[in-house]
Amino acid sequence: MPSWNEIEEGVLTIAEKMLDDNFVPDMIVSILTGGVIPAKLISDALGIKNLKYVDIRFYKGVKDRENKPIVRAIYVNDVEAKKVLVIDDVSDTGETLDFAGNIIAMFNPLVVRTATLFVKPWSRKYPDYYYKIIDKWIIFPWDKWEIVRENNEVEVEKKERFLEILKKLKVQKQ
Ligand code: 5GP
Ligand code: MG
Ligand code: MG
Repeated sequence: MPSWNEIEEGVLTIAEKMLDDNFVPDMIVSILTGGVIPAKLISDALGIKNLKYVDIRFYKGVKDRENKPIVRAIYVNDVEAKKVLVIDDVSDTGETLDFAGNIIAMFNPLVVRTATLFVKPWSRKYPDYYYKIIDKWIIFPWDKWEIVRENNEVEVEKKERFLEILKKLKVQKQ
């Protein structure tokens, strides 16, 4: 699991790469939900106040090959003629990023670029800006309870305390 320090290194590295490229976007579009915190951090690093969202979930079909992202909502406005940066936490196959980029392209921006903290080596769409290539499943500080909820075998700090909360939730729902 990347530490908070590693996340900060990643955010600053991405900001530096963008400046080296003379690319300062007018707006940031983050992919819900994993992209929200990296997007907030990058927006603050670069002083970009215009932060928007697209809600895209990876839909798992019955057969593996039918997997595709589905768009649940698009919370953007005023994209026309803007320089847009789409941000997610990690790109695996690259499909989510591709999908999000295509959605934004329909709003007639000047340019769309993408950034993620991490990218898997096999991704078919590398983001324009990223921090590191990692070939393992990543547990981010912001999604650890989401992940433990799905698989309580995962070893993370403060897990016992979270599992107690889950138990109490179950009792309340009865
Ligand atoms: P892709 O569409 O590139 O295959 O998948 C990207 C989406 O899946 C991202 O929005 C991200 O939230 C999730 N994802 C892919 N790989 C990982 C990973 O290693 N860890 C976590 N936590 N999420 C991942
Ligand atoms: Mg995601
Ligand atoms: Mg996620």
